[in-house]
Amino acid sequence: MFEVAVVSGKGGTGKSSITAALAHLLFLRGISLVAADCDVEAPNLALLLGCGEPLETLTISASHKAKVDPLKCAGCGLCEKHCPYDAVHVSQGKAEVDEIFCEGCGACLQVCPQQAISLAATETGKLYLSKSRYGFPVVHGQLNLGEHNSGKLVTAIKTKARSFKADNGLLLLDGAPGIGCPVIATLSGASLALAITEPTPVASSVLERLIQVVEHFSIPLIVMVNKADLAPSYAQYLEEYFTKRKTRFYKIPYDEAVLASTAQLKPVTEFAQHSKLHQVLSLLAEEIALEADLKP
Ligand code: SF4
Ligand code: SF4
Repeated sequence: MFEVAVVSGKGGTGKSSITAALAHLLFLRGISLVAADCDVEAPNLALLLGCGEPLETLTISASHKAKVDPLKCAGCGLCEKHCPYDAVHVSQGKAEVDEIFCEGCGACLQVCPQQAISLAATETGKLYLSKSRYGFPVVHGQLNLGEHNSGKLVTAIKTKARSFKADNGLLLLDGAPGIGCPVIATLSGASLALAITEPTPVASSVLERLIQVVEHFSIPLIVMVNKADLAPSYAQYLEEYFTKRKTRFYKIPYDEAVLASTAQLKPVTEFAQHSKLHQVLSLLAEEIALEADLKP
């Protein structure tokens, strides 16, 4: 499948709203589609696409935590002294691990003279397979509180989404904000990256770092400035900048329908069918379909 990763250097750029709208527009074009929400810390794509109860739920275990055998522990405190994350403490003569802080690094195992510590697999989060209100599959997940292996959960989500192997199809990935592990896992193997930003210097400085990640993977890039008409001169500056760099560029207009549609858990393209926003996103959906050589 042709894989499109929608990413943003920072949160709050409207990435999930745009992903849901693109999914809706590509569906309307009759394209065989799978959507995946790779933002496992704050997932919302399934909500915006009207998914009901999941059809399938899987538990993903990608983390390890230290476990102390109290019968073997002599309370010497060496594990507490060497733990780089302050995750193990001796209390009443026995070591106890705080799982929220344990990173599973294994240092305590190395120093324990009693071999009282082992590493045990723990649940990282849940993976869900759901069906959108349009009928195409949506794979999403949720990281457990205090868990850190979000990249592995994202990889599990992508593996599940890729298992559909739709002929002449498209996998649309809604990435996490930032440039860390879950974003790298989202971009890995992508055919096209859509980087969404806002017309502010703060957002564009984060965007530069994101673009470095995209370029590292040699992924074709389209930059989109959302709410461009709220700061037209800065949006114009960005357009000139990216045009000089020969980077494809879209200005997405601000539209109050985004808020109304989000409140009703629907893609904005269902609400604002004759708006400029709809026109711009339709052009983008057409460009993606052409690049992927997708036909209804
Ligand atoms: S595995 Fe690492 S982080 Fe966890 S308690 Fe042991 S030393 Fe600390
Ligand atoms: S190093 Fe081993 S024996 Fe010493 S307190 Fe930690 S778990 Fe107990």
